[in-house]
Amino acid sequence: MQIGYLKAFSDNYIWFIQHERDLIVVDPGSSTVVLDYIITNKLNLLAILLTHDHADHMGGVADIVSYAPNVPVYGMGSIATNELFGNESIPLCPWLQVKTIATPGHTYTGICYIVESLGLTHIFTGDTLFASGCGRVFTDDFVAMYKSLTQLSSLQQDTLVYPGHEYTIKNLQFAQFIEPDNKDIAKRVKLEQDKLDRLGNSLPVSMGVELLTNPFLRTNDRNIIDSVSKITGQEVKSGLDCFIKLRELRNNF
Ligand SMILES: [Zn+2]
Repeated sequence: MQIGYLKAFSDNYIWFIQHERDLIVVDPGSSTVVLDYIITNKLNLLAILLTHDHADHMGGVADIVSYAPNVPVYGMGSIATNELFGNESIPLCPWLQVKTIATPGHTYTGICYIVESLGLTHIFTGDTLFASGCGRVFTDDFVAMYKSLTQLSSLQQDTLVYPGHEYTIKNLQFAQFIEPDNKDIAKRVKLEQDKLDRLGNSLPVSMGVELLTNPFLRTNDRNIIDSVSKITGQEVKSGLDCFIKLRELRNNF
């Protein structure tokens, strides 16, 4: 089994899981690159997994389904043929079992997919968790988003995270704005920029690195609380309050 990606639009990742000629696609926002890849490599599409219902993550589904009418579409909401609710364990095919976590907040339909292979855990997080950041809270349900991120941050530290967009450098710049003295962030900026220059992508990233460098996963950290309080001129009352203020600062960064 291998995990790869196709790029779409300016910064979307369409992740795929492949084993020999079998393919599973995550969040095909565009059909063109996916169908090209399938046809060129003579692949069998076994399933589509959707992390949420934004057009840049599912806009290609209709075209792909007209090409492969029997392909199951997993996700929350009406576009899915196989509707999910979170906390499921699905045998997708003989070589792959997928676990789900409901992660509402960015949208009401957030689902993350966990895949295990050769002792490694991989998670596809859509627009819930980004490298060194998180998605906007379009639902205005900050409690739900905070809970979703808290749940993800409790995964094992060697879990590899595959977000839906390449936002790493901008997110790290924001993380540095919040924590100018954090050496792990400074180190990571250099590493990720180098990776981007060489490979054109900075992902995946381990949860352990995220826990050190993602301010949205560290909202109970004294440094972050003090910094947010200083920047906003307001008292930070709790981890959730810190998260809400951080998200607001990031929206305007
Ligand atoms: Zn989205």
